[in-house]
Amino acid sequence: MAKIRIHQLARELGISNTELIELLRELGEEVKSHSSTIDEATAEAVRELVQERTGKVTGPQIVVLPRRALPPLELAERLKVDLGTIMSQLMKWGTIVPPTQPLDLEVIVKLVKELGYEFQFERDGGKQEEAKTAVETETAGVGVAVAGEESDAVETEEETAVAAVEEEVEEKPPEVKPERLRPRPPVITVMGHVDHGKTTLLDYIRKTNIAEREYGQITQHIGAYEVEWKGRTIVFIDTPGHEAFTALRARGAMVTDIVVLVVAADDGVMPQTVEAINHARAAGVPIIVAINKIDRPDANPDRVKVQLSELGLVPEEWGGETICVPISALKGQGVDELLEMILLVADLMELKADPQAPAWGYILEAKMDPKRGPMATVIVKQGTLRKGDWVVAGTTYGRIRLMTDWKGNEVKEAPPSKPVAILGLEELPDAGDKLEVVEDGKVAKEIAEQRAELKRLQQLQPTRRITLEDFFAQMQAGKVKELNLIVKADVQGSVDAITYALSRLEHPEVKINIIHKGVGDVSENDVMLAAASNAVILGFNVRVDPSGRRALQHEQVDVRLYRIIYELIDDVKKAIVGLLEPIRKEEILGVAEVRATFKTRFGIVAGCYVRSGRLVLNAPCRVIRNGQVVATTRIISLRHYTEDRTEIPEGMECGVGLEDFSAFEIGDLLEAFQVVEVQRSVEEIREKAPELVAAQQ
Ligand code: GDP
Repeated sequence: MAKIRIHQLARELGISNTELIELLRELGEEVKSHSSTIDEATAEAVRELVQERTGKVTGPQIVVLPRRALPPLELAERLKVDLGTIMSQLMKWGTIVPPTQPLDLEVIVKLVKELGYEFQFERDGGKQEEAKTAVETETAGVGVAVAGEESDAVETEEETAVAAVEEEVEEKPPEVKPERLRPRPPVITVMGHVDHGKTTLLDYIRKTNIAEREYGQITQHIGAYEVEWKGRTIVFIDTPGHEAFTALRARGAMVTDIVVLVVAADDGVMPQTVEAINHARAAGVPIIVAINKIDRPDANPDRVKVQLSELGLVPEEWGGETICVPISALKGQGVDELLEMILLVADLMELKADPQAPAWGYILEAKMDPKRGPMATVIVKQGTLRKGDWVVAGTTYGRIRLMTDWKGNEVKEAPPSKPVAILGLEELPDAGDKLEVVEDGKVAKEIAEQRAELKRLQQLQPTRRITLEDFFAQMQAGKVKELNLIVKADVQGSVDAITYALSRLEHPEVKINIIHKGVGDVSENDVMLAAASNAVILGFNVRVDPSGRRALQHEQVDVRLYRIIYELIDDVKKAIVGLLEPIRKEEILGVAEVRATFKTRFGIVAGCYVRSGRLVLNAPCRVIRNGQVVATTRIISLRHYTEDRTEIPEGMECGVGLEDFSAFEIGDLLEAFQVVEVQRSVEEIREKAPELVAAQQ
């Protein structure tokens, strides 16, 4: 009967080896270690048991991979999954590649995650790889590692190599445990139009929270502060406005739990109010409205509520869900109630974290202290950060030498949500970088270096944010289902006309979201919002202002400017059906193996055996050696014995000549392919009847 190894089965079931061994024990089956084998019948019994208890056993497996492009074939072997599983996943994403063609790192990472594994690079890249190949025979890779195991006493060399990799992975600490979750303080960002009182509100809350004497002493600005209110803590991000909020989010760092939107009662909803609402919405963060300046004689809170309702923020007292608190940030009126509401919303959100989990957080700010070196503010998301911890932040690392709270007092520990300034990093991290605690200095340095390397690799292949051109491809690949748009136009009439026209477009697979619209040039804010929300900016009769141009230098956002509304709409239509740029897909025609080489009067020709499919004269062809593509060229001669042929089918031998390539080696694979273009038709888009659009708006 077929045998299966413990670690293989554990991986298949998505449980740890220890958990599996425990399950086997329950079934009366004693096994020694993860490299022991069991028979198929026992494996089946375990599968059933696991199925019964699904939900109880969890924990993704960790895969250690070399830091290089891997072909699907090798990846399948390393993951110990069928090649078919990998190929069909790739196909789902609209990618058809030969099993021997190396995949980009980005794709590999995505694949590995999709298949339910966690992912790590081999620590010392090349060296480990070499060491491993030395003990391996023909089959590539045994890099799949499962955490939390001890190695067997009797192991083959191959298994020893696995264990070596596993040991490193074991350093990865356990994740967040549901039973250890504890409530954590909410983190608040104050947003709103300029001069509506954001700074005044933040100042008032900070001032009233601490003694006068202490207030004068605070010289340290760390980008966030904490407020004690009725025995509970609220954290405020100290930079008002949406710049920091969106800049962090554009880097994937979600720090804010609740947005307090300040709207001046004498001025009402203004353009930046709308922007702030859209930023918060795009981030999925709840909004509490503070209607400010109610002390002013010309204050008109009801007008603000009407305007907010028009934007979909209907006040609670009017039957909606938006909490609106009238306040005077200057005089302090209503501020207590605002804090109360913040806690109420926080309670509803059940904000929790595991203080015992491995600590990590986000860098909020970082600056160089002339005397003490890099200083960074961290907001802890999970776990507890401690003085003396070794940390990695982005591509830098260090040991926490000193940790202070916002009042400048030294703290030894920072639990979830606590903002702290840390000293001890080697270099300045970037705002939005993830900071993680690691085992020791060696690991910290290695990870930081690995990240720097990965960053370098990524910069070589910049991952573009979405563009109208690639929207269709990404949609096909299952990466996006919604097209996020930001519409900027010269006058309100144009904004409305464009929004109306876009709202009429309907496609079975695509949802168009206008996440922000407004009058005026494309600004930095628009770019940052687009970057954070993976949106495309459509401008009509506007330009990109200087701040927007600056932002575009580091944010790869697609901005498209139009002078004719029809063209704008048409481009969106085309993007939805992939007509802007036809999608090119590769199809493998066949694979042949080089078994000999001959010198002929036409140059060097490879004597091949067609293993699958067929070879076709003039077809593009890759030469693959040990899983790496060594050349991509074209078939220029194809012969069966002495006869010229235009095609050679599977199972036949032939002589193959390639354009500008003669350095064949026995064992090379020749892979003939063709590129096909896939187009769809605009006809797939229907335009909704105008009445329907009106009804929905
Ligand atoms: P920000 O741009 O949103 O940060 O606005 P500021 O906090 O700088 O406030 C702009 C102006 O409005 C300042 O002159 C404040 O003194 C004033 N202000 C802020 N809040 C209030 C308030 O509640 N009542 C009155 N009367 N003035 C306020």
